[in-house]
Amino acid sequence: MSRLGGARRDRKKRLGHHRSASLDRFPPGPTMSASDCLVTETPQLLLAALERADDGVVIVDDAQRIIHFNTAAERIWKLSRTEVLGRDAAVLTLKCLQADAVTDFRDEISLMRRDGSRIKVAITLSSATIDGAVHRIVFARDVTAEAERRARIALLHAVSDQTNRVVIITDTEQNIVYVNSAFTSLFGYTSEEAEGRRAGELIAGRHTDRKTVAKLVKRLMHGDRRGEAEVLAYDKDGEEIWVCARIDALRDKKGRVKHIFALLEDITETKQLRSLQQLIMSALADEVPIAEIADRLCRRVEEIAPDVVCSLLHVDAAGLIHPLGGPSLPEDYCRALDGVAIGPNVGSCGTAAYYGEPVLAEDLDTDPRWQPYKAMPLGIGLRACWSTPVKAKDGRVIATFAFYYREPRAPSNWHRRIVDACVNLGAFAIERKEARAEIARLAYHDILTGLPNRAQLRHLISAAIDACPTGSHVALAFLDVDHFKDVNDTLGHAAGDELLIQLAQRLREQIGPEDILGRLGGDEFVVLLPHRDAEGAERVATGITEALAAPLRLGSRQMQMSASIGISLYPDHATDIDTLMQQADAAMYMAKQAGRSTHRLFSAEMNGLTEQRLALIAALRRAIAEGELTLSYQPQIRSCDGAIHGLEALARWHDAELGDVSPAKFIPLAEECGLIEQIGLWSVREACRQMASWRRAGLSIPCVSVNLSPINFRNVTLAARLADILAEYGLPPDALMLEITEGAFMQDSVAALETMNAIRELGVGLSVDDFGTGYSSLSRLAHLPIRELKIDRSFMRDIETDAGALAIATAVVRVGQGLGMTVVAEGVETEAQRKLLADLGCDVVQGFLYAPALPPVAFERWLIEHCAEQARAMLGRLDVAPADRDVVKRSA
Ligand code: C2E
Ligand code: CA
Ligand code: CA
Repeated sequence: MSRLGGARRDRKKRLGHHRSASLDRFPPGPTMSASDCLVTETPQLLLAALERADDGVVIVDDAQRIIHFNTAAERIWKLSRTEVLGRDAAVLTLKCLQADAVTDFRDEISLMRRDGSRIKVAITLSSATIDGAVHRIVFARDVTAEAERRARIALLHAVSDQTNRVVIITDTEQNIVYVNSAFTSLFGYTSEEAEGRRAGELIAGRHTDRKTVAKLVKRLMHGDRRGEAEVLAYDKDGEEIWVCARIDALRDKKGRVKHIFALLEDITETKQLRSLQQLIMSALADEVPIAEIADRLCRRVEEIAPDVVCSLLHVDAAGLIHPLGGPSLPEDYCRALDGVAIGPNVGSCGTAAYYGEPVLAEDLDTDPRWQPYKAMPLGIGLRACWSTPVKAKDGRVIATFAFYYREPRAPSNWHRRIVDACVNLGAFAIERKEARAEIARLAYHDILTGLPNRAQLRHLISAAIDACPTGSHVALAFLDVDHFKDVNDTLGHAAGDELLIQLAQRLREQIGPEDILGRLGGDEFVVLLPHRDAEGAERVATGITEALAAPLRLGSRQMQMSASIGISLYPDHATDIDTLMQQADAAMYMAKQAGRSTHRLFSAEMNGLTEQRLALIAALRRAIAEGELTLSYQPQIRSCDGAIHGLEALARWHDAELGDVSPAKFIPLAEECGLIEQIGLWSVREACRQMASWRRAGLSIPCVSVNLSPINFRNVTLAARLADILAEYGLPPDALMLEITEGAFMQDSVAALETMNAIRELGVGLSVDDFGTGYSSLSRLAHLPIRELKIDRSFMRDIETDAGALAIATAVVRVGQGLGMTVVAEGVETEAQRKLLADLGCDVVQGFLYAPALPPVAFERWLIEHCAEQARAMLGRLDVAPADRDVVKRSA
């Protein structure tokens, strides 16, 4: 093509620009077929040249007559020269020839030929004056094929510019011959800047995996099919871009590679950043410990940003730094950071945490904030550090995310994007860790006094017993405040709480560093005294009684406080925790009987109580056998609309001699003496019978909850028994819910888990009762087949006044919602509590506010009244006319 172009230029030179002068100088030549032609005067040489030209040549004289028409012109117009010579130029249908005035013209036109076919012709028109007459010369070339090719290429360009994939085409030497506009927008080079450069050199950089790409190209050259690789590339500004490169070859017919082309996709965002986020989220879902999450995160960051050495530091509430993750930093360095206090000039991290702003130290060697700390990082080749604070939802800095570099420098945009993508999730992970620690603390500690609670005390007592050397003792003292109820009733709960706090302080002053003080609940405290015999323990008790005698200030009041103390001794009185606690409790009761404000050591005479216990067991056994147990039902109300969510069935025992015996008393007894299995199954059967009977009577109650003991879950046939009972009463499985305490799944028993899964298979719901008092890990909850959580009623009493109780209730509602469970609050007694719970998003409430547990007939009456109440409330909302309302009222 370029050769032809050259020839064309030569022709133009001869015939165009110097034409008038040179044509005149040619001597006359032989005559042509047409008479009186100018051409007759042209030299033979020129004619021969024109004749042989590839382009059509037409000469038109000043009278518009065609005086020359070469062979190429005949081909173009499909006209023979005999047809056109001497005729008017109009036969050529060239617009530029029709107007006399046009003496210079150059364009590509579409030419309609005589046979009706159309071709694309490149026309060049120029003029020359010969003998004072203006002649016009037309050069015409058929460019149809070229035009088509050009159109096709333009189309391909347009298509390739449309895609957001980068297209690069190189020759076999990998010199770029084509790039599309996506290339320019991603890498910043224009196609002019890119073409001719080696692809590898242009967009590869320090950390590009050149070997992989070279291997792919090599394989292509050897006839392999296309290959794919993920590589780090660099744009014109040196910014990192992760791309997925698909490389293929364009081959000729013989299969030889002519061009190599690559399709590149920017995967920085979609793949690398998302992979970071996924890494954190899946680790969170798997309950991976935070340090491990931090390590994984840092490792992954270092993979996708190879310039970076990454570390994550935790900043605790006291403003001290603790390394969380930094797998590429030497351990010595991490250890040295541990416990450093944040401050205005404490390296990058300490400073970033202090100000809550990112801090960049481009050169540790000279940065004033690094002077006291620089030796260690410089020693291991780290020269720069950029640290970003990680903030909790409330704005507190809880961590710092640091990028170290091996040379003095600032972070790249890529590095900033990584940090942007990770800080929020990092914050989430760390906050979760903190929340978990807080829940664990709450689960093991009494909220009011901060003392170990019942659950924690059991661990501590058992540890003290285990550690007790032969011949030594462990004393257990139970302490109960005298007349505490009066304080609560007359001065209010706040005063009662204040009294308990002050009491705890005084008790702490009376015990030694090895002794342990805990709160069982209410006004009951425990003092655990390791290495103390009876005499030693009684001395402590006397000390306490005396210390409590000093008057106490409650607000503006002075008042007197005292307590009764009972002591039991390991191993003299018993060797197991439960018996020791019962004995200390019995001894405390004796101290109360003896007039209060004193202590008693457990003695064999108090064993009379054990006899009482045996008598109670016998009575319970008889009651079960004779069907004297009954169930009462307490409604559970949906907080969104006041409708009935379900009922809880609670066992009742009225003994002719003993009167009403509380389930809080006979259920633990039944668990101890093996009667609980029977009670559990009886409750399920009785509750199902009652439900079936209500349903037949047209009372629509969605579900009944039955309490089961952890012991019931050890029985692997439980699910089958439940299925039988449901079938017997024709109830669907979702009409039954089983309430279990955390103990049921804390025993780690395979049988219990199997039973729970089988129950879930069956379609019967499981509810965790008294949630918040045990210490089940939230992670286990998520993996158990549980449908409902019940916030323990102990939190309700203080929920309006005690931040701790509110915190637990809030946490439980959140956890429950997060795990897709229904959250039920039990023990709701006031409208204020109900409102607060509804605001928290708690789904269901249960408590005396609506109704106590009622015998079936009383419950039916309550239900009818409740429905009428609801209908009235609804009508009130709908604003029904008073007359209609009366009708409804009457029918209700
Ligand atoms: P629970 O399962 O936590 O039952 C709730 C207890 O709270 C019931 O005491 C109920 O009467 C009481 N309650 C309900 N609303 C309020 C309120 O607003 N304020 C207050 N202060 N208390 C409220 P109850 O019936 O004495 O039962 C005590 C415990 O005995 C139950 O605690 C449960 O653990 C156990 N229990 C009762 N029936 C059965 C049973 O059939 N089987 C088993 N295994 N245990 C049962
Ligand atoms: Ca319950
Ligand atoms: Ca409960």
